[in-house]
Amino acid sequence: MKNIGIYIHIPFCERKCPYCDFYSRKGTDDMYRRYTDTMTEKIASSPYKHLYHADTLYFGGGTPGLLGAENIGRIVDSVRESFSLDTDSSEVTVEVNPQGESLDLYALRKTGANRLSVGLQSAADSELEFLGRKHSSNDARNCVLNARKAGFENISLDLMIALPGQTRESLKKSVDFCTQLNVEHLSAYILKIEEGTLFYRRKDSLELPDEDETADMYECLCGLMKENGYEHYEISNFSRKGFEGKHNLRYWHDEEYIGFGPSAHSFVDGKRFYCPRSMKSFENDEIIADGSGGDEEEYIMLGLRLAQGIGAEGFTKRFGHGLPEKYLKRCKNLEKAGYVKILGDGGFALTEKGFLVSNAIIAHITE
Ligand code: SF4
Repeated sequence: MKNIGIYIHIPFCERKCPYCDFYSRKGTDDMYRRYTDTMTEKIASSPYKHLYHADTLYFGGGTPGLLGAENIGRIVDSVRESFSLDTDSSEVTVEVNPQGESLDLYALRKTGANRLSVGLQSAADSELEFLGRKHSSNDARNCVLNARKAGFENISLDLMIALPGQTRESLKKSVDFCTQLNVEHLSAYILKIEEGTLFYRRKDSLELPDEDETADMYECLCGLMKENGYEHYEISNFSRKGFEGKHNLRYWHDEEYIGFGPSAHSFVDGKRFYCPRSMKSFENDEIIADGSGGDEEEYIMLGLRLAQGIGAEGFTKRFGHGLPEKYLKRCKNLEKAGYVKILGDGGFALTEKGFLVSNAIIAHITE
């Protein structure tokens, strides 16, 4: 049986953060229960049931923690039943809000969840206020400490960088906060102003850092994480050795996954598809085809996000032939400018300088 990753979208949040364009809305306990009913039905009737073994399960959102341990446990059980999930050996991640006092972390751990992703965003309370977050850094600290007590040995924190007014000092404060809690993993995203968000409507009044300042923040972050012994394994992700996010690695390795829920994407049997952003669409099993996936170009585009880059051996194993000369030629030119390094086996990877302008570099290599 082939391995696969399962993504479960939980489309509820207590309020909308001004920068966020993920599909979510306010819910009630009754809505959480009914959504769980629908979700378990969809998993049990999936056409892929019993054809795959889930080796990662990821609850994203939205704010999955809002569902509560009981509902999450029901969904874990349904994945266990339909996709032979073994929670002792598989990574089961749940995104939670630092303020989730009502979430029983002991009960959550008992469902089989073994990795928490906590939306810290910043340890500077003024930055949290700008981001419209209602939690304090102290809430996040308590969340991590309580999770430890409940038995979570794999915790990730999310940070945002390139915020208006963010300084190297305030960024260092956030990084110190994470490293002092000794979390296993950190994801750091550059603030982007997405259409349809409150920040987008207010964009002319936001004093966002320019490109140079953003690059400076990113380099500062990379340096601090390195000093603290974290591996920079993907453009936006850092971890202790052996604690890379396995579910997200599937995406960057161009491997298969099935998404359940409105706005969830899937990649199965070489086909990409997704459910539109509406509850009705999810209830009615609406699916939009999104083309084919898994070709050489896509494999390179995704793999270049990883520090390990594209190994010649891995490429040959996947496609049955060596890396095409056209990619290597472009990489050799970029190597001179310091954006790319050629690997010992003839593959290639982006440097940290390349990570900074990854979109342009990857587009150039795969054009
Ligand atoms: S950032 Fe997270 S908590 Fe805020 S609206 Fe988006 S999904 Fe919800």
